[in-house]
Amino acid sequence: MSILDLFSLTGKVSIITGGERGIGLAIAKGLAEAGSDIVIAGIDEQNLETAAEEIQALGVTCMAVKTDVTDEGQVRDMVNAVCDTYGHIDVLVNNAGSGRGKAAEEMSEEDFKWVMDINLTSQFLVSKAVGNVMLRQQKGSIVNIASMSGVIANNPQPQCNYNTSKAGSIMLTKSLACEWAGRGVRVNAINPGYTKTALIEKRLSNEDPILEDWLRFTPMHRFGVPEELVGAALYLVSDASSFTTGTTITVDGGYTCW
Ligand code: NDP
Repeated sequence: MSILDLFSLTGKVSIITGGERGIGLAIAKGLAEAGSDIVIAGIDEQNLETAAEEIQALGVTCMAVKTDVTDEGQVRDMVNAVCDTYGHIDVLVNNAGSGRGKAAEEMSEEDFKWVMDINLTSQFLVSKAVGNVMLRQQKGSIVNIASMSGVIANNPQPQCNYNTSKAGSIMLTKSLACEWAGRGVRVNAINPGYTKTALIEKRLSNEDPILEDWLRFTPMHRFGVPEELVGAALYLVSDASSFTTGTTITVDGGYTCW
């Protein structure tokens, strides 16, 4: 087998939560180009439909399932539907996420819990449902999209809920990796730095002065684009990383070095 064959996903089925836009869509398209059939799970039906058409144009099947990943019942229904259609699940990318930053002394319990639910509890719920399928198969690879915010507190904007959720994602990754390592299921994470998506779009279009700080603190002095996360994702989900579990790949233009 050649080294490039190890990166092939031909015959595999990959679920990407929030795969209808931003980083999730870039990863979904990258895994499709590597040969995987794709399932995207998110909330916005119009976005899901448009993304599914784009992914199918790459020559694979794409199933779009409306799913709120914070709701265990909806997650279970989505996973059952995927199993009914394909009979197996090989890859899960837990990408869905959001933010609602505020100073800690002004943050409501609701704002704290909302972010924890979307960024962290959802990763547990989807990993549990898909993990049960993968453990039966004795094979599978899960990638959690965490963040550089899981290892540093962003400066200058206060966002303790987001940072805490992402630190939790990194520890969830290590914990699941250890629990499932002997049973064929690998679990890893990616820590993106500032990447041009809807999450930071508003600041970009308003020319928010905070962007100058973000660029100054980034050794490469630029923001990433979603496509720059695809290589790390493909490595982690494919057989090229067969001895890699419980680890985190940081893709942040050097931000966490300073
Ligand atoms: P976007 O806002 O562009 O996309 C977020 C995705 O998550 C959307 O597809 C959205 O679905 C989905 N989503 C949100 N809530 C739910 C929910 N309850 N159930 C199902 N799907 C949901 O953000 P990014 O692409 O930038 O972010 C992707 C991941 O990368 C997130 O986990 C984020 O925290 C992380 N990240 C991003 C960074 C950045 O600078 N952009 C930096 C570090 C980490 P819908 O379209 O239906 O609303």
